Amino acid sequence: MLSKVVIANRGEIALRILRACREMGIKTVAVHSSADRELKHVRLADESVCIGPAPSANSYLNIPAVISAAEVTDAAAIHPGYGFLSENANFAEQVEKSGFIFIGPRPDTIRLMGDKVSAIASMKKAGVPCVPGSDGVLDDDEERNLQLGRDIGYPIIIKASGGGGGRGMRVVHSEAALLNAISLTRSEAAAAFANDQVYMEKYLENPRHIEIQVLSDSYGNAIHLGERDCSMQRRHQKIIEEAPAPGLSEDLRKKIGERCAKACQDIGYRGAGTFEFLYEDEEFYFIEMNTRLQVEHPVTEWITGIDIVREQLRIAAGEKLSYQQADVQIRGHAIECRINAEDPDNFMPSPGLISRYHAPGGQGVRVDSHIYSGYRVPPYYDSMIGKVITHSNNRESAMARMRMALDEILIDGIKTNIPLHRTLLLDAAFQAGGVNIHFLEKKLGLS
Ligand code: ADP
Repeated sequence: MLSKVVIANRGEIALRILRACREMGIKTVAVHSSADRELKHVRLADESVCIGPAPSANSYLNIPAVISAAEVTDAAAIHPGYGFLSENANFAEQVEKSGFIFIGPRPDTIRLMGDKVSAIASMKKAGVPCVPGSDGVLDDDEERNLQLGRDIGYPIIIKASGGGGGRGMRVVHSEAALLNAISLTRSEAAAAFANDQVYMEKYLENPRHIEIQVLSDSYGNAIHLGERDCSMQRRHQKIIEEAPAPGLSEDLRKKIGERCAKACQDIGYRGAGTFEFLYEDEEFYFIEMNTRLQVEHPVTEWITGIDIVREQLRIAAGEKLSYQQADVQIRGHAIECRINAEDPDNFMPSPGLISRYHAPGGQGVRVDSHIYSGYRVPPYYDSMIGKVITHSNNRESAMARMRMALDEILIDGIKTNIPLHRTLLLDAAFQAGGVNIHFLEKKLGLS
């Protein structure tokens, strides 16, 4: 097993990784910015190294600083968590070139999946269903682009191949607007992602967001852990996730899951990953793959009983998967609410001192959070301060446990989105299950 792991992240996920390491007897190194000395995992880690000032560009995104921390502490591997450097192929490559294990896929896999056009092409080849579209990047041939548009049918979405974080996309409703939309998206993409390649897809009007979790070792073994429904989003940011997806049949789950596991074998995938799909009228449409651990991994852990971070560490150490597909049994239902330090009315970040904190508890309640009474939420990073996850043998009862947990949790001193979660858990459409990706923005009167 790995002797010592550098945790190249902060907040709840750094604590999550630390806990998995400790349970497995792996030593930990916390790397942190000067604004993050008080983080819980920094206190709990075997060693800690300050890698720079508060702004992430100078600390959590500083590749030489992270690698130097691994060198001076004589670590074996680096876990990137999510966000920051987790999907940076150059980082993964430099980690490996410096003689450390990158806890994630091979750098060329990250590169392949980081470019949407090449990701879609490789998924198509592997038999994963994709959105009808241009089958590659658009060129400057206006007639050809207009014809493509007619073939696909409006509405259409123009997307930047190098895009991410919900940026670099434009919906087109009619042929008259197409050429202009292509050139606008192209110049925006060139400026934002230093890559002006764009492609065209059918715009699905009322899809749900459903994603498949996979695990793959270095010996060609790949399994899927079922799906998560993450349709409750605002500005492409997920806020509630659940597993399994309401109403998805066992048969569809098996079919799409097996396709994803096979795609992992085809591309020689290593580690944990997620295939993201739009889902409409019982059809799945691949949109992208996340080559890392995800925020919402706990709901899958709870319904399968599989510790995803532990598997990541084992795979990175060169071990075989601990499970075969037949071992993966889905039990009950799990829901996750992301708790953000923000104003529930206008979504403005609300950093500051947490004067009082009481965590919820009881059967079927898990809290993944780094906060404590007296912790000061810094203004420099993402506003997510933790996740409340509940589980029970059915969806209704998991929701009841979530309502109880949201009533019980107490965070004083800063504003949080807990009131919004309480409202959503009482919403009739959410309770019925299966809302689409536009539901939350419509409810909030934002679209
Ligand atoms: P990013 O990498 O920026 O997150 P994605 O390709 O994952 O980009 O798309 C982000 C979101 O944009 C999706 O979750 C969905 O809401 C919307 N979207 C993307 N492609 C389509 C499409 N073909 N039809 C409808 N909505 C889409």
